Amino acid sequence: MNAFELFMPDGKSAGIYACGKCRLVYSPKWFVEDNASELAMGQAEKCCRPPVCNKCGVELPLHNGWVSCDKCRRERGMVEEASRFEKAEKISWSDWDGPVYCEEFAGHHDGYFENLEHVEEYLNDHVMDETEIEDSDREFGNIVEAEIPKYMWACIRNKPGRIDVDDLVEGYLIDWLPEEWGAKDLEGADDLQEALDTFIGLNQDIWTYDVDYKKAILLDGLYKR
Ligand SMILES: [Zn+2]
Ligand SMILES: [Zn+2]
Repeated sequence: MNAFELFMPDGKSAGIYACGKCRLVYSPKWFVEDNASELAMGQAEKCCRPPVCNKCGVELPLHNGWVSCDKCRRERGMVEEASRFEKAEKISWSDWDGPVYCEEFAGHHDGYFENLEHVEEYLNDHVMDETEIEDSDREFGNIVEAEIPKYMWACIRNKPGRIDVDDLVEGYLIDWLPEEWGAKDLEGADDLQEALDTFIGLNQDIWTYDVDYKKAILLDGLYKR
């Protein structure tokens, strides 16, 4: 920032630019472009200048890794969420028995619930009376009734899929195999496939959840005091 040009003892331009704050120098020699001088000055100008939000221009903390400020990101998130909700199929909680997700309940398994009964239990444990709630309660995820989200997102269960012995051989042994060889050319491939099928079969009740933003589960009436 506050870049300035350096001059030789005889008063001629050295063609080099320095950052006005830290005095680091920037040389056009580093650039192959025709406007190398301009680029060097641009770099010197950028040096030490705190980054700004690409939406509203507010100064950002150094090295926080974001290109926009918290407020703009939050606003953009809200706009995206509203548009997703508008397009989604709306399903009443009483017609849904699968897993659900809600960002606002991040304290509970990152916001994922196995089913709505668990949501109900969670609400019973966390909804407090307006006259009683304190800031310290909120730190533990407690809310008042009016803050219960209007909806949650449905989730899809990710079950382990089949592991194919052909893919395994291709993924791990291809460099060792003669050209155009595959699992079919190896001894024991069928036995290995059988073992893999058994292994996956034994683990079918382990799953993870993916949020399904096409289905919004409406919570109206779920929570009763
Ligand atoms: Zn600098
Ligand atoms: Zn901003």
